[in-house]
Amino acid sequence: MAMEIDLIITHATIATASDILPNTDIAISNGKIALLGTNLPSLFPTSPTLSAAGAYVLPGGIDSHVHLQQDNSPTGDTWETGTRSAIAGGTTTVLAFASQKRTDESLFPVVQEYHRRAAGNAYCDYGFHLILANPSEKILSEELPLLVKDEGITSVKLYMTYQPMRLHDLELLDVMSATRALGMTTMVHAENADMIDWMTRKLEARGRTEPYAHALARPNIAEDEATYRVLALAELADVPILIVHMSSKVAAGHVRRAQTALLPVHAETCPHYLFFTSEKLRGENFHGAMCVCSPALREDPMDLGAMWEGLANGTFTTFSSDHAPSKFDHPLGKKKGTATFTQIPNGLPGVETRMPSLFCNGVLTGRLSVQKFVELTASNPAKLYGLSDRKGTIAPGYDADLVIWYPTAEQAAKHGTPDTVMKPFNLKNEMLHHDIDYTPFEGMEFTNWPRYTILRGKVVWNRDEGGVVGGVGDGGYLKRGRSTLSRPRGVFVNEFNPHE
Ligand SMILES: [Zn+2]
Repeated sequence: MAMEIDLIITHATIATASDILPNTDIAISNGKIALLGTNLPSLFPTSPTLSAAGAYVLPGGIDSHVHLQQDNSPTGDTWETGTRSAIAGGTTTVLAFASQKRTDESLFPVVQEYHRRAAGNAYCDYGFHLILANPSEKILSEELPLLVKDEGITSVKLYMTYQPMRLHDLELLDVMSATRALGMTTMVHAENADMIDWMTRKLEARGRTEPYAHALARPNIAEDEATYRVLALAELADVPILIVHMSSKVAAGHVRRAQTALLPVHAETCPHYLFFTSEKLRGENFHGAMCVCSPALREDPMDLGAMWEGLANGTFTTFSSDHAPSKFDHPLGKKKGTATFTQIPNGLPGVETRMPSLFCNGVLTGRLSVQKFVELTASNPAKLYGLSDRKGTIAPGYDADLVIWYPTAEQAAKHGTPDTVMKPFNLKNEMLHHDIDYTPFEGMEFTNWPRYTILRGKVVWNRDEGGVVGGVGDGGYLKRGRSTLSRPRGVFVNEFNPHE
């Protein structure tokens, strides 16, 4: 009895986090990868085929840091528009946030509400991280274990800054102690809240209320200090952590040294910290507000170079968009901050440009190997966030989540398909599929882009024929397991084990 094969992708150059397999066919059955081999259409002559003729075929992107439809962002993307934008940029899974407010005394209604927002409204698969703003004893001891077990929510995000969400060191230690016991991945936004508040007060008192003052209020040293501090807290408590959206060279150096000392420390950076300086916060007609995000874009290009280095040398485990958009021309969007920068909603849109910006400027320029690209954009997020048994690589049994790029001129020449090479273009916001009225990447040249995105065997993005061809509701909720990348070491700073 022959296997039902639903689709065969032919002549792919498959890359995983470890290997490149040239001229390989991928047979897909029932949403999963069934076989890799050569000349598979001869075994399944009636199955439909899709030629990738020499092009890279990579695991679908996993964007592990995406904000969608949170209460604090009324003009941002909905689940529908945000995930539509994701698949158009080669991302097949987003991990977004279910965000507790300080007044929420239980997490269960919070999670139910985010399920309600997402269910049936997603073009790609999704999971939730929990933002903990009020980590009461009851939540830590009674609710988190149930959310891990029943909901497969295995990661939390903690804030060291933003007054409504900020946790103090003692709270951080208590939460980390709870997440350690449950094997949850603990994400931390590391910036020193008091430094920022003090600088903000001084700037506003001098009338420095323009968008650029946002960057002045959040200097590198605020990230550097908080990064070092949370590394120390994590070492004290022997807890694996991931520091999100890093932007500073000195802070990345702290992480690097901790990793060299074998602490289970992971870190993330984002596209905007590779490409833009704080110069973007200047600009006429309040346009600088478009690029207000935290940490702020850095002034010194040296920091941008250090982020590139950190991607290549392994300091960064994941590369995520931190898609946290607000519309620009809207009274509740970026323009809310015309009187003072402190009112500008933080964050940038980027879920669609994450994969192509790194592929073009990293892989195609030779700055990063294609395997490193896969590791950063798919395999490591899958491993770190408990999806490594079904996503993040190309192998039999895995979900058939794939992104097919255009062949480079060289690849196309080898396969005799020169007409399949993509014509480079300069990005315009209207080409994107989010519901935001600008992109920080406006005008940037792209020499490649996902040609097809495939979600569990279904073509959901076909750039040349139809664009978004998937349907809202194609995406499903992912119950996640534990991280396979990090665990506590059982090593303490002295003879006392604080967890016993
Ligand atoms: Zn974020």
